[in-house]
Amino acid sequence: MLYAQVVLPLAQPMYTFSLDEGLAVGVGDAVVVQFGSSRFYTGIVWSITSERPDYPRLKPIIKRLYSTPLLTPEAQRLWEWIAEYYMCTVGEVMRVALPALAKPSATSLSELDERSIEPPTETFIALAEELRSEEALAAYVDKHSRRAPRRTETMDRIAALAIERGSDDGFVPRRLVDADAVHIAELKRRGLAVVRTAAVEPATHKSDFLLPSLSEAQQRALDAIDKGHNSGKVALLHGVTGSGKTEIYVHLIARTLAEGRDVLVLVPEIVITSQLVERLERIFEGRITTYHSRLTALRRGETFLRLATSSGGELIVGVRSAIFLPMRRPGLIVVDEEHDANYKQTEPAPRYNARDMAVVMGRLYNAHVVLGSATPSLESYLNATSGKYAYVELTERWGDAVLPEVVISDTLRAVKRNERRTHFNLDLLQNMRLSLEAGEQAILFQNRRGYAPYIQCRTCGYSPRCPHCNVTLTRHKATNRMECHYCGYTMPTPQVCPNCEVQDMALMGFGTEKVAEEISRLMPEARIERLDGDTSTSERAFKQIVHRFESGEADILVGTQIVTKGFDFGGVTTVGILNADNLLTMPDFRASERAFQLMMQVAGRAGRRNDRGRVVIQTSQPSHPVIRFVAAGDYHAMARTELMERSAFGYPPYSHLVRLTLRHEDYNLLRYASHCLADAMRKKFGGRVVGPVSAALEMLRGEHRAEIILKIEAGASMQRARRLLREAVEAVEGDKQYKSVKIVVDVDAL
Ligand code: ADP
Ligand code: ZN
Repeated sequence: MLYAQVVLPLAQPMYTFSLDEGLAVGVGDAVVVQFGSSRFYTGIVWSITSERPDYPRLKPIIKRLYSTPLLTPEAQRLWEWIAEYYMCTVGEVMRVALPALAKPSATSLSELDERSIEPPTETFIALAEELRSEEALAAYVDKHSRRAPRRTETMDRIAALAIERGSDDGFVPRRLVDADAVHIAELKRRGLAVVRTAAVEPATHKSDFLLPSLSEAQQRALDAIDKGHNSGKVALLHGVTGSGKTEIYVHLIARTLAEGRDVLVLVPEIVITSQLVERLERIFEGRITTYHSRLTALRRGETFLRLATSSGGELIVGVRSAIFLPMRRPGLIVVDEEHDANYKQTEPAPRYNARDMAVVMGRLYNAHVVLGSATPSLESYLNATSGKYAYVELTERWGDAVLPEVVISDTLRAVKRNERRTHFNLDLLQNMRLSLEAGEQAILFQNRRGYAPYIQCRTCGYSPRCPHCNVTLTRHKATNRMECHYCGYTMPTPQVCPNCEVQDMALMGFGTEKVAEEISRLMPEARIERLDGDTSTSERAFKQIVHRFESGEADILVGTQIVTKGFDFGGVTTVGILNADNLLTMPDFRASERAFQLMMQVAGRAGRRNDRGRVVIQTSQPSHPVIRFVAAGDYHAMARTELMERSAFGYPPYSHLVRLTLRHEDYNLLRYASHCLADAMRKKFGGRVVGPVSAALEMLRGEHRAEIILKIEAGASMQRARRLLREAVEAVEGDKQYKSVKIVVDVDAL
């Protein structure tokens, strides 16, 4: 008898099951086991031993699912790595990593059989082995073509297809052979052909792709990436918007596919998937597999199982969960827009960052990794400037396109001079009119998702910050106090500006709907579209809006973050950022970095073709460093300044930030528990612990929430920190009175 450790898709440790040696089951296989009294689960065999563990009664592995293992040893290492680093169980990784249909569970075995799907397969056909040489076939055809012309024609066709498709073993997809079932059956009966069922192969397998020729700058960048890869480094491709990073990816992808290895291209959002796929499709026609949550469950399940049986040479474009697809021979991982916060999963566990996992996978599989962005995260930038990554810069747009001109428009001054109409300065309105009169288009950006109630002086633009944490304070209505969401510092909401001492403090914030409404009043002749969470409720709605704007059926597009994401609208010559202040005042230590990234991305939408675009940024703080860096398009200056601040306050990338969130319906119990946990943590980590404070979203679904932050300086042992943290958490969880308090640990929280 053998014994197998099996991972189940639960927040549980692994369990041991007995394994009948007659059952051909190996490590990495999916199996069915019974867990609990009446539930059957799919589990993954993690290890097998012949030593019987000490449990009195072991349940058996019931059967094996699928004809191939679901996990390679490398994928097992990745899951273990994620569970350890992000402090969860391997079972929780499994829960997120496998699509639902690939891990069926049920209350009875027969129900389970109905649930499970098999990898999609197709029939392949080849000539009998002794007929696979050209001479043998020619001899056979000569002899029989007169009496059985149809038969020899089909055989010729099979041989021709095998050559055409470069099939190593002579097998070709049956569907390509134009012959009916009776005819094929006869070939088989006569021993002239053999048939087998195998995984569906991608539509084409050719490797001579028609690639765009690169500009000199692009070629230099590609060479620099190669040089980095050859010395085993991750490459950070820092290329301004429109520099043609995609074309560089294309060259790397083509090369990897030609080697028969897999390529994974990660994008931060579904909407970007379809645009990128369209562009890649022109080159890698019929070769691309997409993966994201809007696909049907069946499609995701089939994709997963098909890849598990693939022999390599796959091109996958997907969102963060695509890192869990069972690639057999990964050779290249591209993380586009690597700075994007969407790469981090916040709920549920594992709270992983797919960008960082791409780097880990690169090491595990010995695959090349490229991180691309016009505004790299400071984490990646520091890795690149310190020499850990290869740093590759593309500073010019491709072709004749030039970067847009940036106009800073002072809202306070505009008010004083009567040059402001509701939320628009005349600067912006004039530029929009210029564009529209020339038959061009405009985009207006207003950040609503990130709206947090802050106050600002309407005279000098000042808004209060926490003296300890360097983040903007948030106004709390109930208490009428300003509060720091990191350490809990509070102060009364000032009536008089602490900076210029004028009594002119105002609560700020407005949304895209308001903007669209106002602009249609100010420019009644303009055709306006709005793109935000409310209008793009489905992919179809989203595509329709984008299509109407792209095809020139609309003049002005008003939108949130969504409009910043990699669109290539040719006709846009004016871009307006309505309120840069609310980007700068986000209650987050990354506010400046995020504001810079967002504004640069929005600006990148202007003048993508020939005409020089204009970007108008409305702000009450025209001399704010971030605004000046955007105006100058100076990423390096932003990064240097921001890194100094981060270093002074001990924030990432100079530390790892772990956020603990506690939840409970009973406010007092939650308070006691969070203080108890914070105290336990302080005993181990001292001043690295901040909080507890009430969370940014104080109440969620009837539960109160509190947060504690732990900063572990870079270079310290994260392994040791995690062990100490686990001890502290377990001590509180083990305390009877706090048993019902839920504690969530988010490592490298954003
Ligand atoms: P990025 O992703 O860096 O913002 P893109 O890859 O979108 O830039 O390129 C901007 C535009 O320039 C696209 O329309 C693209 O097709 C074009 N382009 C870039 N490089 C080339 C090239 N080598 N050959 C042809 N067109 C290119
Ligand atoms: Zn604070």
